[in-house]
Amino acid sequence: MGNLDGKVAVVTGAARGIGQAEAVRLAQQGAKVAVFDINEAGCQETVAKIAEVGSQGIAVACNVADEQQVTAAFATVADKFGSVDILVNNAGIIRDELVYKMTVQEWDAVIDTHLKGSFLCSREAQKYMVPKNWGRIVNTSSTAALGNRGQANYSSAKAGLQGLTKTLAIELGRYGITVNAVAPGFIQTEMTRSTAERIGVPFEKFIEEAAQRIPVRRVGQPIDVANVVAFLCSDEASYVSGQVIYVAGGPTV
Ligand code: NDP
Repeated sequence: MGNLDGKVAVVTGAARGIGQAEAVRLAQQGAKVAVFDINEAGCQETVAKIAEVGSQGIAVACNVADEQQVTAAFATVADKFGSVDILVNNAGIIRDELVYKMTVQEWDAVIDTHLKGSFLCSREAQKYMVPKNWGRIVNTSSTAALGNRGQANYSSAKAGLQGLTKTLAIELGRYGITVNAVAPGFIQTEMTRSTAERIGVPFEKFIEEAAQRIPVRRVGQPIDVANVVAFLCSDEASYVSGQVIYVAGGPTV
């Protein structure tokens, strides 16, 4: 089928959006895919799409910020598919607010989901990867890591993920495990739709205005990110580690 035949992948936050596209893309390359999301029922659409491209998927209910749920979820994958070879840390939320109005709850929710969630899932995944001397971890940063008004929590988490990526790459490289991050710019998903709603701009107009500021003159689609993730998970990318790949239709400052 593809270059990921026989591999088992976990994609978090894969019920929809970028995570769903990544799960299906990895399945297209031959991987069996565990679809993690808070809401197990929401994962069924992704599992069905995985079957459509000829692979096997399972829905696993998991809040990535909860240590016990993460451990249990990985055990479920190992039980069902035998092991874990690939982890894509994608689950994420936004709680945008200017810093003077940002609550501790808004800060904690975002840091916990992105940063603690990626740490917990990576710590669990490497247990399965180290004995096999092969593994791929891809984290999800963002152009917001470079700073973004109203996103002190989110940009801190996304910048933190770049540090986590480089450190895991250094620690795990000797075990055949590469660790990289994708850093998307504007991608058309429910997340960007909710931002448009919050600021009271119709989504179509929001997209049109964003496209004018992007060098390739369009916003991104989930598949744009999924294609890069598929490369980073392949054997062809075995000498690429600790990198942050911006997927943003142009250079970032
Ligand atoms: P979506 O909101 O469309 O999808 C995110 C998914 O993650 C949802 O299904 C959500 O479930 C799930 N999720 C949220 N919290 C948790 C949790 N604690 N445990 C498990 N699953 C959870 O977002 P996108 O697809 O747009 O974004 C995916 C990733 O890409 C995020 O990390 C985001 O920060 C990043 N990104 C997105 C960009 C964009 O322009 N869209 C740009 C740069 C980065 P539920 O619906 O139940 O909350």
